[in-house]
Amino acid sequence: MMLLVSTKNKHKLKEIGEILSDSGFQVDSVYNYVDDIDVEETGNTFEDNAIIKAVTLSKQIDHYVIADDSGVSVEFLDGAPGVYSARYAGTDATDDDNNRLLLEKLSNLPIEKRKAKYVCVIALAKKGRFIKSFHGECHGYIGEEYKGNNGFGYDPIFVLPEGRHMAELSPEEKNKISHRYNALIKLKEFLKSIR
Ligand code: IMP
Repeated sequence: MMLLVSTKNKHKLKEIGEILSDSGFQVDSVYNYVDDIDVEETGNTFEDNAIIKAVTLSKQIDHYVIADDSGVSVEFLDGAPGVYSARYAGTDATDDDNNRLLLEKLSNLPIEKRKAKYVCVIALAKKGRFIKSFHGECHGYIGEEYKGNNGFGYDPIFVLPEGRHMAELSPEEKNKISHRYNALIKLKEFLKSIR
């Protein structure tokens, strides 16, 4: 059976294909099968956005489709930046702008007030019908400085409980603990049960 992923990123597709290699599903990009439509992320939660994307894309084709939404959530800021992670400092904001704004909002706060988590929600749909969503998290805190050159987004300021910043991990290390990985392994268990 086929599982179509809502991504054009070849690295992301390969990584997902590897994690799901023993799921019984063959993984491919949804964009090899459907028109390249721009689905707007208008939801208030990661789950809403993932569902909107998966359901919209799956209307065009008779295969299982997954879409994800992710971001970082800071406890002291009531979950912000959350679904606005990519555009926290504005619609055209760079990763650096977003990181700077987040550090500013948390300035002078002690470590116990800097708790944060990465969240990823993957939604599974078929023929325009939502089937199930899968949540993954990765816990840590927002540091006070930038460290590391790997990853993207908030990784240079996101610190793991062991003390390293996420951007200091190799891609292989990150892919074993990330919010995306944690959501994908839950998806894999479900796929095994329906194949
Ligand atoms: P997307 O839903 O995967 O496009 O992620 C939305 C935004 O969340 C990104 O632009 C980043 O700002 C942030 N984000 C999601 N995942 C990560 C991650 O693994 N590291 C750092 N930032 C992330």
